[in-house]
Amino acid sequence: MFTSLLERRDQADVEQLSDEIKSALADHHRWMHKVSLAIAARRPMKDRSFIATDAHQYCYFGQWLRTLLADERFQTRAFEKIDQLHKELHDTARVLLLSLEQTQQFDEAQYDTFLKIQHTFFNCVLSMLEFSVISKYQFDPTTKLLNRRSANMLLAHEKVRLQQRANHASCCIALGDIDKFKAVNDTHGHDLGDLVLEHVACIFKATIRKHDSVARFGGEEFLFIMPGLDLTGTEKVIERVREELASTPYIHKGQALTITASFGVTQLTPDDDIKDAVKRADIALYTAKDEGRNRTVCLSATEAH
Ligand code: GH3
Ligand code: MG
Ligand code: MG
Repeated sequence: MFTSLLERRDQADVEQLSDEIKSALADHHRWMHKVSLAIAARRPMKDRSFIATDAHQYCYFGQWLRTLLADERFQTRAFEKIDQLHKELHDTARVLLLSLEQTQQFDEAQYDTFLKIQHTFFNCVLSMLEFSVISKYQFDPTTKLLNRRSANMLLAHEKVRLQQRANHASCCIALGDIDKFKAVNDTHGHDLGDLVLEHVACIFKATIRKHDSVARFGGEEFLFIMPGLDLTGTEKVIERVREELASTPYIHKGQALTITASFGVTQLTPDDDIKDAVKRADIALYTAKDEGRNRTVCLSATEAH
């Protein structure tokens, strides 16, 4: 349920997310502890903020969730569900605590509802934590980009979207490969090669559009996934990426090292086998290398047949 988030986050965000979830969850455990003690002892809550009608907005978890939901990348059904369950949990606690104060009566059915909401709420938050932990392993440690496995997952996800939206949807992919990268390693060493990979990744990431993704697909090979674009639109974006890389040299010991890459662009079609689409992009990339490198070549799905 969190797949759509993956394409919008980077590694640092995901690491921060899992730490934040743990703190927020620990705080809610402390809240549950106090509420449960008050209910068991049938005594009024000293801290009246527990029974305020907007308590869900002011507890630590609520404040954290508000910040998260203000970020459009988190405005997904999964987070909205957590928000709703969190409010229900506070509302049910308030009803229970007030009825105990006012009537000294323990309402077993109400308490049962409270426990069930708590159970569902914690399960949802745990799935969110699980997502953030798993996500850490979906990035490439050198470039901090999505790794090949994540790229394949996104491709599968895009293919389903294409199939669901039938006629009007489009999505293109591009394979990029650094030109003569072996020579960089041979001349300057493997460690500098790694720094160049980071430099390239950084430019790629900064130049694509907000909803595009770029992954490290192999050694010095990168896969771009561009939802909503046709071949011409993708070629424009990729040309911008290519020019940006070629005109931003990597500075090493005061020396400017110009790095270029070649690109192969194609569509992802609803009835494409994903491997076939990547293969098509690879054929286009091969042509770009053959024609002299530092260029973009498009190969449409119809042309390839
Ligand atoms: P072309 O323009 O045809 O793509 O030439 P190339 O030299 O880039 O291609 P080739 O396939 O001959 O060499 C790719 C090089 O990329 C060889 C390999 O050592 C290097 N490489 C792959 N992964 C890494 C990495 O993680 N770090 C470093 N430093 N080098 C890597
Ligand atoms: Mg290469
Ligand atoms: Mg290569």
